[in-house]
Amino acid sequence: MHTIAATEFQHTTEHNVLEYNSNEFRPPIRIVASRQRRRTVAARLRSGVLELLVPSSMPHTERQQWAETMRRRIERRIQRSRPTDERLAERARTLNVRHFGGRLRWTSIGFADMVHTWGSCTFTTGAIRIARRAAGLPDWVRDYLLVHELAHLVQSDHGPAFHELENRYPLAERAKGYLMAVDVGASME
Ligand SMILES: [Zn+2]
Repeated sequence: MHTIAATEFQHTTEHNVLEYNSNEFRPPIRIVASRQRRRTVAARLRSGVLELLVPSSMPHTERQQWAETMRRRIERRIQRSRPTDERLAERARTLNVRHFGGRLRWTSIGFADMVHTWGSCTFTTGAIRIARRAAGLPDWVRDYLLVHELAHLVQSDHGPAFHELENRYPLAERAKGYLMAVDVGASME
């Protein structure tokens, strides 16, 4: 017998594990079971989360095997195109020129292990950190994280003056919505 939930909903999210290894980027996996899907399995990387689309008839153990196979494939792909600290700093320099007239100065910039936040800027020292898991985000969303932290070099709070700086990045609002959808628990500092 089908339960009411099983007949009413086409998709069910089984789990969404947000775990990150400090040494490598492991995308969290979300398994989406669909009654419309027949035998084939598809995977896509969406907002840093690996979505695995499986037929709802597929047994649990088989889903897990597919999840691991796809994760390994995606990890290899990410590893090859992974943004490094150098590329992050280079990107910050570009955004500084584009949106702040090249006037901003910082002491260091790089990826760091952060679980609950996407980025941080230490106003007093001028050190900017971007969460390592942001490496899996689309470039335009990561650019927003950088602009946000760069703006903190000028304004430490989130007041109107800060928002004027942040909104110099045209996709700021869209990126904020994107990040909210990805990770409800994370916030910006
Ligand atoms: Zn902030």
